[in-house]
Order: sequence, then structure tokens, then C-alpha cells
Amino acid sequence: MPTTTAKRNILIASSEVWPLAQTGGLAEVAGSLPGALAQLGARPAVIMPAYQTVLDKKPDHFKNTGVSLAVSQGGQTIKGRLLRGELEPGVPVYLVACDQFFDRPGLYGYGGQEFPDNPERFAFFCRAVLAALPSLEHPPDIILANDWQTGLLMPYLIELGLDKPRGVFVIHNMGYLGLVPPEKWPVLDLPDHYNNFDGLEYFGQSSLLKAGLVFSRALVTVSPSYAREAQTPEGGQGLDGAMRHHAHKLTGILNGVDYKVWNPKADRFLPANYCVRSLKGKRLCKAALLAEMGLPSTAVDLPLIGMVSRLTAQKGLSLVAEAAEDIFRTGAALVVLGSGEPVYEEMVRDLAERFPDQCRAFFGYDEALSHRLIAGSDLILVPSMYEPCGLIQLYALKYGSVPIVRAVGGLNDTVRDFAGHNPEGFWDTGFKFSQFQDKALVLAVRRAVDLFAQPADFRALVKAGMKEDFSWNSSAHKYLELFEKVLE
Ligand code: ADP
Repeated sequence: MPTTTAKRNILIASSEVWPLAQTGGLAEVAGSLPGALAQLGARPAVIMPAYQTVLDKKPDHFKNTGVSLAVSQGGQTIKGRLLRGELEPGVPVYLVACDQFFDRPGLYGYGGQEFPDNPERFAFFCRAVLAALPSLEHPPDIILANDWQTGLLMPYLIELGLDKPRGVFVIHNMGYLGLVPPEKWPVLDLPDHYNNFDGLEYFGQSSLLKAGLVFSRALVTVSPSYAREAQTPEGGQGLDGAMRHHAHKLTGILNGVDYKVWNPKADRFLPANYCVRSLKGKRLCKAALLAEMGLPSTAVDLPLIGMVSRLTAQKGLSLVAEAAEDIFRTGAALVVLGSGEPVYEEMVRDLAERFPDQCRAFFGYDEALSHRLIAGSDLILVPSMYEPCGLIQLYALKYGSVPIVRAVGGLNDTVRDFAGHNPEGFWDTGFKFSQFQDKALVLAVRRAVDLFAQPADFRALVKAGMKEDFSWNSSAHKYLELFEKVLE
């Protein structure tokens, strides 16, 4: 239950917000948490950069507020503008416009190359957020900043010396450190005493993620398991010492799902809808997916494994490549939707060429196809090296597509490993494996395929997963409780 009596104003600063701009799960969190907070009586608003893609996609959606944002950076004054729209009724979304930094294709890079001026771009964004504060309808009590792109907000708030807003920082992925080479330190406009071991310094460079980690009032990771793993040398990406040092202010809060968007009963992207009481539509989704991906229609009776993933080392595609022969020997087929690094794209393309009757891949970012693929698959594979929370497995559960996951981070916290028949009915929801090894992955796939061959039991597992509730409600409560603690 909410412990808050006051209506708190929460400003969520994020470099991506669904449905305006997205490269991964962060956007979905920044796009759906505000609505959940509003439902619980808080007053959320969102602020993000005015990327070219956002303005192109929704040209009439945003109004110029007339507020000009002047930011000094490395001795220069850079001017920005504040635009305003609505994320949903009653939830404002502010855009920080600055053509020199955001009027270009791509969010953080283009054509496989990071933008070299990312430190300047996001230092500017953070300064501009603070410059915009006096012009917002509701002065925030809390600024909720997310990942390296907004990490600088935390030391900037300290430098501002105000009692409010207070800064809470969320780490969605420690793999992205937001590194700044020493020669660029001046563009951050922070006093030099911030650039040491207890500050932003990271092995001779500066880390914007560490800025948020160290200088926030409270720190969140997006699952309890990840909060523990991030404090270990294996999981801490070189920041495990800092995570341990700041463990007193660290909480793990699972991300929630927006079931208005992710619900097989009402999903407008699907060729047929279905629900836990009637799974007929799911079989139609599977047949349509096989046809769309060019797999034989006879495969409709065989287990179909799906993957929707950023193609990066984190997501465990190398494991899939190593295990491929054994996976396909089980008779299962595999469909992959992914975008990201060329080396992993090549790896997946090679699989599709070697196993043309059992493997198909689509490369690119395709929201509609991601829904069709999750609905049409029997099993969803998430073999990540590490996974702070993971959303795919949560969608898979709701869509009756049994997750096969590596037991790390949020994957471990949200899937219960099938432990055999239980006279009281099915309680488990998927298949887990621990070691990051192809043999462990193959074993989990075999267990899943074996159960698939027993339709009544497999259906029971499917239905147990569909009944799971990962809506925002409980996590949004936890955020509100945390905000109250920070405001005490
Ligand atoms: P991460 O944030 O590390 O990428 P998550 O599982 O938390 O992983 O979230 C990934 C989100 O991005 C999911 O909503 C997934 O559907 C979406 N996604 C990833 N790759 C693609 C793609 N190629 N096309 C469409 N959606 C994708």
C-alpha cells in the first residue's frame, strides 16, 4: 500500500522513452512507469532529448514552451529550447531541443559508430534539465535519472545545493559505463575534486554511470538479483567496489510490464488474439509466424523457439551458435529477431544458412514483428551472460510462450524452473540453466522439448506462466516508498 500522503512530483529523466524513441528496455520502463506512478497518486513528468526521429515521427505533438535553456559548457554558451507534449493524458513529456546535439539520425551513434561527442551531448542534456526546472508546471521533489546518459544529474544536483529536488539513480545496465576520456573532462563542468577514485574516475577515464552511482541519494538496480551480482567482480564491470561501498543506499526493484501494450487478448499486432482460457488463437499466430518467416507449415506441430534481442555479447548468441547442432537435433525450429553488432548478425545469419529448414532470422528493429514472434513461438530463449531485469521473458510468460532462461539477474527472479510434476498443479513457469555453457543450454532446451511432447503438461506450464502478474503496480509502490525515504 502507498505510504505517501503527499502528492509527490517526480521528474523522470531518460535518454529514451517508448513510444517516442527506443533502443532497448529502458525506453519501455521510462514510458510505462510514469502512468503507474500517476495511478498511485503521484504527479510524474518525463524529460528527454528532442531527437530528430521524435520530431519527425510526431511533428504536431509537441509545442514550443518559449523557454530557452542556456547552458555553459567548456567556456561556451550553448542554447536549447524546451518543448512540451503529453506521454499520456495528464503526464507531460518535455523535450530538450538543441540542433547541434540532437538533430541527427540515431540516439547514441549511427552506422555502427558511437557519436564521439556523446559526453558533450549528455552533459548538455543534464544541465538543460536543471535549467528547465523553474519552468515546469510542478517543481519536482524527486528526479529519477536512468543509466549513464543522465548520471551527471546527480553531481550537478549536489553542486546546485538545493534541498529539492533530490536525486535517485536507476542502473538498468552496468555494461554501459558512459566513459569520458581525460581530455574531455572540462566539458562536464564539474570541479576537479569530483574526478578521483571516490568520484567519477574509472581506470584513468571518467564514467558517467559512476557519477550517478556515487552521487545519488538512493540507487536502484532493476532486479534484486542484479543488485547482488553488481557487487561482485564478475558482475560489477569494474564498479563492484563502488557498488559495495554504496550498498547501504541500494535497492533492487523489478521492472513492470504495461499490460495495456503487452496482452495477447487485445494485441493489435497479432493475426489472432487469445487468452489463458482459450489458446486457439495462439496456434494461428504460430502458423502465421512460420509462413511469415518462410518455415514449412508442417513445423506447426514441432516446438518453435523464438528470440527477440539486441545483438550484443551480453545476450548470449555465441552460446546459441555453439549449441546449434544439438538444439536442431531435438527437432525444434528457431526464429530470431535482432539488431545490433554485425559480428552477432553474421553468427545468426550463418545459422539460418546452415539449418535452412529449422532456422530463420530477421534483422532490424521491428516492434510489430516482436509481438508476432513472441506470440507465435512455443518457447522464448533468453541465454544472457547477465541480465539486469529483462522484459522479453515477462512478455513471453503473458503470451504463453514458455521462457528458457539463464538463471541470472532478473531472469532468475522472474522465472521458476520446471521441477517436475506436482500433484497440486503447476506452479513453475519455465526452464532455467546456470552455467554459461552450451551443454547447460542444450540440457534446458531438451527438457523443454521433452515436455512439449506431452501436450497436456506443456499446456499446464503455459497457463501457469500466463497467470503471472508482473504489472507495474507492486514495483511502482516500491518506487514511491523509496521516494518517501529519500524525502525524509
Ligand atoms: P535490453 O534492454 O537489454 O535490450 P530487455 O529484455 O530489457 O533487454 O528489453 C528489450 C526490449 O527491446 C524488449 O521490449 C524487446 O521486445 C525489444 N527489442 C529488442 N530487440 C528488438 C528488435 N530487434 N525489434 C523489436 N524489438 C526489439
